[in-house]
Amino acid sequence: MWESAKMKDYKVDIACQLCGQLYIFYVDKEDLHKVLNREAYCEDVLNYLTDNERELILSRTCGNCFDKLMEDINEN
Ligand SMILES: [Zn+2]
Repeated sequence: MWESAKMKDYKVDIACQLCGQLYIFYVDKEDLHKVLNREAYCEDVLNYLTDNERELILSRTCGNCFDKLMEDINEN
């Protein structure tokens, strides 16, 4: 495993596009680039992040707002 070789020192700060809440967390820069370049799946390389943090990277929507969106969709 190369898990120990990861350098999770790259600061990511993303504000949720819906509620404006700012979230700050740290990732391995290489991992982030792979995901943004669609070379790897977020769930695979950023598996050390929470669902909430991965959702922010992918859609700039926090877990709370994402849940609300899903509720709204299910109600309709
Ligand atoms: Zn939000």
